[in-house]
Amino acid sequence: MTKTNSGSLSLEGFTFEESWKEKRNRAEKIVEILMKTHPREKLLIGDPYRTLIHCIISQRMRDEVTYKVWERLFEKYRDIETIANTPVEEMQAFLRENGVGLWKTKGEWIVKVSRIILEKYGGKVPDDINELMKLPGIGRKCANIVLAYGFGRQAIPVDTHVNRISKRLGLAPPRVAPEKVEEYLMKLIPKDKWIYMNHAMVDHGRSICKPIRPKCNECPLKELCPYAKGLVTDDDIKGNTKTAR
Ligand code: SF4
Repeated sequence: MTKTNSGSLSLEGFTFEESWKEKRNRAEKIVEILMKTHPREKLLIGDPYRTLIHCIISQRMRDEVTYKVWERLFEKYRDIETIANTPVEEMQAFLRENGVGLWKTKGEWIVKVSRIILEKYGGKVPDDINELMKLPGIGRKCANIVLAYGFGRQAIPVDTHVNRISKRLGLAPPRVAPEKVEEYLMKLIPKDKWIYMNHAMVDHGRSICKPIRPKCNECPLKELCPYAKGLVTDDDIKGNTKTAR
């Protein structure tokens, strides 16, 4: 195993040998192919506040359900002032009636987050990852989603698809936490493509690189993928412990 470092990141946790240079070259080819196979004419860049509320609702929910509830919520409550003035119990009841899991916690977060943004940030969602992560219900993934899709900043939100595919592709070691996956991707992928990676990997994860039985034979990344060559397995990835091997 090659034991070189790049900043705080190490090549030691990977299950196959590859230099940083080789990894970067391969990452660039992967991005090129993903951009062709999962094209997006326009990136979804919307309103930071609505993006943030969407992210809270979406936790452990299917996308289609999240989107419908999110639309209904803004039809009913319209803006941040209305939501901040809504009793927590009412918001919880709204989420429960609309089939949202964890409705109790999410209802509280939605109202509290709105109050904090109004009181502490003058009604504007902060565009800083550390400030975003101080808000109730906002972890690193959500903060990056707000930065990328709300503000249009270059950020890499690592959700379940990005986490799994990055590891199968050997762009991150199989046993690192999602925050570390983000660091490896930022190191390997040109910055102007960061925002694109979440889109591309989510599309790819839903259509081809599925959690169970990925369709490697149909995958345009097959030649570049250590998983397809048996060098990384799902057993390697399971566990998600915080320490690289
Ligand atoms: S070759 Fe298989 S594991 Fe690799 S990215 Fe494609 S579908 Fe996923």
